[in-house]
Amino acid sequence: LGDRSLVVASNREPYVHDYDDGEPTVERPTGGLVTALDGVVAETGGTWVAWGSGDADFDPAVAPNGRVDLPPEVATGDSDDRPGYTLSRLDLPRRLVENYYYGYSNQVLWPICHLEADPVNVAPDFAPAYREANRRFAERICDADPDVVWFQDYHLALAPGDVREAIPDARLVHFWHVPWPTPEFFEICPQATELLRGLLGNDAVGFHLDRYAANFRECVARFVPDAALTPAGEIRYEGRTVETYASPIGVDTDRVAANAASDAAEHYWERVAARYDLPADRSIVLGVDRLDYTKGIVERLDALSYLLEQNPGLVGEFTYVQKGTRTRDRIPAYRRYYDDVRARINELDRVHGTEDWTPAIYIEEGIDDRELAGLYRHADVAVVSSRRDGMNLVAKEFVAAQGATAADTPGVLVLSRFVGAAEALCPAALPVNPYDVSGFASTIGEALGMDADERRERIGTMQAAVREQDIDAWLAAQKQVLTGTASVVADD
Ligand code: UDP
Repeated sequence: LGDRSLVVASNREPYVHDYDDGEPTVERPTGGLVTALDGVVAETGGTWVAWGSGDADFDPAVAPNGRVDLPPEVATGDSDDRPGYTLSRLDLPRRLVENYYYGYSNQVLWPICHLEADPVNVAPDFAPAYREANRRFAERICDADPDVVWFQDYHLALAPGDVREAIPDARLVHFWHVPWPTPEFFEICPQATELLRGLLGNDAVGFHLDRYAANFRECVARFVPDAALTPAGEIRYEGRTVETYASPIGVDTDRVAANAASDAAEHYWERVAARYDLPADRSIVLGVDRLDYTKGIVERLDALSYLLEQNPGLVGEFTYVQKGTRTRDRIPAYRRYYDDVRARINELDRVHGTEDWTPAIYIEEGIDDRELAGLYRHADVAVVSSRRDGMNLVAKEFVAAQGATAADTPGVLVLSRFVGAAEALCPAALPVNPYDVSGFASTIGEALGMDADERRERIGTMQAAVREQDIDAWLAAQKQVLTGTASVVADD
């Protein structure tokens, strides 16, 4: 970014300080977006504004005023001469977090963006808290006097409008990591127009797919009467031009492949196989998900149950391994979903299990990314069946983890048509409609029966696609947008 100062703003922080026996400890998230962004900000320098969620985040011995100057070795994991950056944490009151994060962000925006009407809960306290939290983010961002601000995701839709007002000349770019719904769906949001106006404070708004960007522009045309779409697909608003663009996020393919080939991956798999008594010749069907109703886990279990019902010959032939992580537990819809998933797994085992065969096992322990890669590597079939998903990185990680050694037979990916990753991975990944129980079941059956040559050919195609759209390609595209050096107008 040259000598221009950067502020990154996200709800989640890249370093969480907690206490262990009274001593402050620091935890870094493993893998994923935050790690990738951490590397970028550590290289460019600047400030990262985020909600301070750890117990020790505001301990003056750790972080005076919530600010931590991260030295290069902390910020990057090595000790070269990258400048590091300042982590500026917001101390949000518990009630505000409850209503802004667990409330508006995750009970209004998350379900609406994923086209799920049932879990939408517009409680009266939610929208004012979202407004207030966004105001605080904007204020803190402005304190850093940035030239360029990079907003992440759906927690911060209103902050760009506030920052634009305070610093009219700043370059503001937003990446929206979840889908954008059609106008017919978005209009169930009572704050539709206000949210769009907030986002139109940006110079550019990015999405994973062209169709999400197109939905966004249609929503602007419908709900912001004083905004105009140009024939080139730009948005004219308050005398400025707002661009929308599509840029599919990816994974660090080399890192995932190295993880899959690691001893830690192999040892973890050996422990799992021993614990659940899995014979080496048993096929493994794998699901890896946060336990979120958008992930289609219940639909997947129904499909597995139907598959066994229709194909008694498959009894004892495979084990379904569900790696699950509990998420957003304070929200009733998530607690219900967790209970539902557990109950369906038990039901599957009760109905279809035999004396010496358990069809489905559930693993909830926290594992690191190398251990997770051990599961990916040993799966014959991975099933990603989201009802709706902006991209879905699990699908891409699974692909990148195949073929860790030449002796491995790569696994097959069964992939919902309704996830962003399907655009690049299908039809080499077997596409499914997760709502279609019989079609879904027979596709899992097809995957289980696929011969090694076809598995290799399909994974080769998918690996090329995953490499082409890896995390470095995504970051390079974002840097161009942040510096304003590329025209980013979606060309549809
Ligand atoms: N993940 C994990 N353990 C789990 C489930 C998911 O470590 O039990 C990781 C997974 O490796 C991936 C991320 O969490 O990097 C999930 O990203 P994705 O885009 O698939 O879905 P999200 O959870 O962001 O909706």
